Amino acid sequence: MDEYILISTLNDFIFCPYSIYLHNVYAGGDEDLVHATPQTQGKAAHTAIDEKTYSSRKDELTGLSVFCDELGVMGKIDLYKSKEKRLIERKYQLKTIYQGQIYQLWAQYFCMTEMGYPIDILEFYSISTNTTFPLAIPTAGDKKELQDFILRFKQYDPAQAIPVNINKCTHCIYCNLCDKIESENVYCLQLKTLNIVQYL
Ligand code: SF4
Repeated sequence: MDEYILISTLNDFIFCPYSIYLHNVYAGGDEDLVHATPQTQGKAAHTAIDEKTYSSRKDELTGLSVFCDELGVMGKIDLYKSKEKRLIERKYQLKTIYQGQIYQLWAQYFCMTEMGYPIDILEFYSISTNTTFPLAIPTAGDKKELQDFILRFKQYDPAQAIPVNINKCTHCIYCNLCDKIESENVYCLQLKTLNIVQYL
């Protein structure tokens, strides 16, 4: 049986396959050294969800682990309101919704529905601006698009050259740790190098 793919990894893959390698290299390290500002804010935004302190209401599920056998993916949802059949992905800040984030929420949707949780409403919620962004329920065509993307992920050849895009790279949280680019990232990591460069 194939192993489940983490839904968050799909998002990393669409952003840059090399970021998955860097994420794994630095996982378990000192988080203050590795995390750039957006990631720290995002992590803080998810703390209540991860620690399941966001809500004690019986009709609200937070931080639920979800799986989908059909797609071979697994992950965690942020918030499901069962009365409204509403699945919500919370982000600290949302200026643009990227394709990877849409794939993430679609994947969560297919996990939840396969597990028997009905969903009528999908949405992103920006904590910093208290704004909601609805997302259409995925169609059969959307599901096929997601399945094709998962297949592309599975068939990825790591020997393939990594395309470096300066705009993207300088906004990448791993920029200061990445050996594919010389520039600094725009978030000015604190104390970036001392214990980290030795691994590159
Ligand atoms: S800095 Fe660029 S090449 Fe390196 S992981 Fe980030 S996006 Fe990929």
